[in-house]
Amino acid sequence: MSLNTTLEIDIVTALSSKIDTVDFENLAFGNVFTDHMLQCDFKDNAWQKPIIKPYEPFMIDPSAKVFHYGQAIFEGMKAYKDENDEVWLFRPDENFHRFNNSAKRMAMPEVPESVFIEGLKTILNIEKNWVKKGLGNTLYIRPFMIAIGAGVIAQPSTQYRFMIILSPAKSYYSGEVKVIIAEHFSRAANGGIGAAKAAGNYSAQFYPTKLANEKGFQQIIWTDDATHTKLEEAGTMNVFFRINDTLITAPTSERILDGVTRKSLIDIAKKEGISVEIRSLLVHELVNASKDGSLKEIFGAGTAAVVNPIVGFSFQDVYYELPKIQNSFAQNLKEKLTNIQYKIADDTFGWTVKI
Ligand SMILES: *Cc1c(COP(=O)(O)O)cnc(C)c1O
Repeated sequence: MSLNTTLEIDIVTALSSKIDTVDFENLAFGNVFTDHMLQCDFKDNAWQKPIIKPYEPFMIDPSAKVFHYGQAIFEGMKAYKDENDEVWLFRPDENFHRFNNSAKRMAMPEVPESVFIEGLKTILNIEKNWVKKGLGNTLYIRPFMIAIGAGVIAQPSTQYRFMIILSPAKSYYSGEVKVIIAEHFSRAANGGIGAAKAAGNYSAQFYPTKLANEKGFQQIIWTDDATHTKLEEAGTMNVFFRINDTLITAPTSERILDGVTRKSLIDIAKKEGISVEIRSLLVHELVNASKDGSLKEIFGAGTAAVVNPIVGFSFQDVYYELPKIQNSFAQNLKEKLTNIQYKIADDTFGWTVKI
């Protein structure tokens, strides 16, 4: 959906900024939010005028559908500041389109492009000071939509709230990540909502991940729900495998989220001359590759951590450790991608958008 009208938006600025109370060197991911938030409500079958106002809690009726049926979706993106103090977004229309695909799947109204993209640019302009210069500093952007219509009847709401909140973040390093390959639980199923960034996908992951944590593993590599033989995603990230010098990642599907980081890394890898295979890697291939030494790397890919190297995996209670290697694809590709995002390298792909 594309609206060519320039966005009309109400702006109520905060009386004072809390930016001076924030320790930007020691940020836990997603705990601190900026001074303002964007809000746009849907009612009477139409999107209302958006407003940017001070960040604050709000009231919703206890019977709102979001609380009972989880009609809720979100996106995750980042803003980057270059050495000339310009603020940049990375492929924002990918997030915009994915957001509306998620909305459609959850029977929610699609958000107009003007509200999502122009609204985002407007609030980022107001919060420019919260985007810090220097590699690794970002402003994490969380657009989301919830069903706020009252009434516990199990059907789609007629009222929704779209919001954008912003959280300063350091590129996070999660320590050594060991994973368990899922043999019972599933993240997604054919015909389900796995391809949508729908809230319930993430809460459904908490319990199996907790069990993995108790065994000393940080994440789960999800396999296909029907046979548990195909390797699909790692935690809430897409997953890449390097066997010898070939990079392998699963094709996106109803079960696999179409990550912007994933598709960007694929394009960068191809440009670097790395051979890339888009196919389902099977669990037994992975185990064999680990045994014969051809398995070099596994890493997750997503906006929050960019690239998350995995040091070992467990399958059927056997632990397989990955070799420690120099010049990893994970590190090289991460550097190439972040150099584009921070405008250190030429953006030959045309992915960056100035605020
Ligand atoms: C968001 C997400 C990703 C990564 O997508 P990016 O656009 O790269 O941030 C991968 N898998 C799942 C399940 C996700 O929710």
